[in-house]
Amino acid sequence: MKILFVASESVPFVKTGGLADVVGALAPVLAKEGHDVRVIIPQFSTIPQEYMQKMSHVCDFEVQLGWRRQYCGIEMIEKDGVKWYFMDNKYYFGRPYIYGMGGDEYERFGFFCRGALNMLPLVDFQPDIIHAHDWQSGMVPALLKIQYAHLPFYANIKTVFTIHNLQYQGIFGIREVQDILGLGDSLWTDDKLECFGCANFMKAALVYTDLITTVSPSYAEEIQTAYYGERLDGLLRARHRELKGVLNGIDMKEYDPSADNKIKANYSTDNMNGKAECKRNLQEELGLEIKPDVPVIGMVGRLSNQKGLDLVDYVIADIMRHDVQLVVLGMGEGRYFNLFSWAETEYKGRVAARFTMDHTLAHKIYAGADMFLMPSQFEPCGLSQMIAMRYGTIPIVRETGGLRDTVLSYNDFNGEGNGFTFFNYNAHDMLHTIERACEYYKNYPEIWKKLQMRGMNGDFSWDHSAKEYINLYQSLFVSRK
Ligand code: ADP
Repeated sequence: MKILFVASESVPFVKTGGLADVVGALAPVLAKEGHDVRVIIPQFSTIPQEYMQKMSHVCDFEVQLGWRRQYCGIEMIEKDGVKWYFMDNKYYFGRPYIYGMGGDEYERFGFFCRGALNMLPLVDFQPDIIHAHDWQSGMVPALLKIQYAHLPFYANIKTVFTIHNLQYQGIFGIREVQDILGLGDSLWTDDKLECFGCANFMKAALVYTDLITTVSPSYAEEIQTAYYGERLDGLLRARHRELKGVLNGIDMKEYDPSADNKIKANYSTDNMNGKAECKRNLQEELGLEIKPDVPVIGMVGRLSNQKGLDLVDYVIADIMRHDVQLVVLGMGEGRYFNLFSWAETEYKGRVAARFTMDHTLAHKIYAGADMFLMPSQFEPCGLSQMIAMRYGTIPIVRETGGLRDTVLSYNDFNGEGNGFTFFNYNAHDMLHTIERACEYYKNYPEIWKKLQMRGMNGDFSWDHSAKEYINLYQSLFVSRK
C-alpha cells in the first residue's frame, strides 16, 4: 500500500509530545512491512541543523490562500525506509516556536493541509491512504472530500484520521478559515464544518474522514461520553462504527535498559544491579540525599492539568510526610512550575524539579526512579508509563484511557498486575495508592520484583499496533470494492 502520513511533528526532527513519537516510530514499522510510506511535516526552524543539511529539494509550487499566493517548497530526507517530506515556507514555519497561541494558526496549518494535498502529483505519489494526525492536519480529509475528490488523481484516496488528544481541536473564526481555504457558505452547517458557531479543524476531520482512530481502546470509548468528549462526543457517538482504538507502542530500542547509553549503568531482568546504580546517579545528579532504600517517585511529562498535577498539589504535604523522594521533569503551566519550585525548597534534598526538555534526564529518571506517577485526568494513551515499566519502574496511575489499557493494579488475591491504580479523580485516592505502593516497596520485595519483571518483559513494541493499522487500512479497500 501507498501511505502518506500528514502530521505537525515527528521524531527525530521535531517533538513536543507523544504525537511525534507515534509518527516517528509507526512510519518505519509500516515501511518495514513492505509498504511505501511517506510523511509530511512542516519544516520548523527548530529542526536540528544536522537534519536540515541532509535535506534535498524535491519541488516547489505556490499555494493559493484566499487572494494570496504563498511559496511552498518540499524538501526530503530518506531514512529508515521512509521518505520524510518537509514543507518549507519561512513565513509560516521559520518562527522561533512550533505552535503559537491563537494568532494565525488557522492560516499556518490551513496552508500545511492544502500544501500536503497539492504536492502529491508533483512528487509523483498517489497514496491509497492519507493518514492525518490531530487537528493541525484535520483539514486534509475535509478538503480532499470537498474540493479534490472530483479530480481523477485524488478520487480513490481514502483517509484515516487519528485523534492523539481531543482537547486540542484547532478552533477559529468561520470567516477566517472560509477565506483562507475557499469553503463556501453552504458548508457551514453543524452536520458539516460548523461547530458551535466556529470553525474547528478536528471536527472537520471527524466529519469527512473515512475512518477515525484514537490511541487506545479505552480512550475510544471514553470520548463518546460527555465527560471526556470535549463537546464532540455526539459526533463521535454518531460515527462509532468508524471509530477504533489502537494502542500506541514505544520505541523498544530507544528505551532499552540493557543497551541505553544515556543511563549510568545498564541492566536487565537477569541482573538488576545497574538499576541501583542509576538510582544513586540520579540522586547525586539532582542533589537529593543518597539513600538506596528510600523510594524515588518520578514524573516526566507536560506540566498541564491533563496530567493530574492538581491532585499532587492538593496532597503534596501528605505525600512528603512519608519517607519518599520526588523527581519531576516537565515544562508547562506556571502554576506547576511554582508548585514544584516551592517543593524543592521546602523539602530540600527530597524533591528535585527540572523545567526543561531534557531527553537524557528523562531516561535517567525512567531508569533511576522506583515508581512513576501519572495521575492523569484523561490520557489518550500515554507513553511514559510504558517506558517506565520497560525500565522496571512501577507505574502509579489513574485508570483512564491508555493508562487503563496498559497498567493493571496489583491484586493481592490472585497475584496479577503490573502497577498500582486508582479510579476516581481524587487526590486522596491517589495518595492512598502511593502509600500502598510504598508499602509493597518496603515490606514485600519479592512482590515488587515480580511487578518489575512483568513490566520489563511486557511487549510494548509497535509490531502489534502496526498490524492493526494495516488491517484498518485494508478494511477501507474491501468496502470500496
Ligand atoms: P503527551 O503526548 O500527552 O505529552 P505522552 O506520555 O504520550 O504524553 O508522551 C510524552 C513523551 O514526551 C514521553 O516520551 C516523555 O518522556 C517525553 N517528555 C515529556 N516532557 C519531557 C521533558 N521535559 N523532557 C524530556 N522528555 C519529555
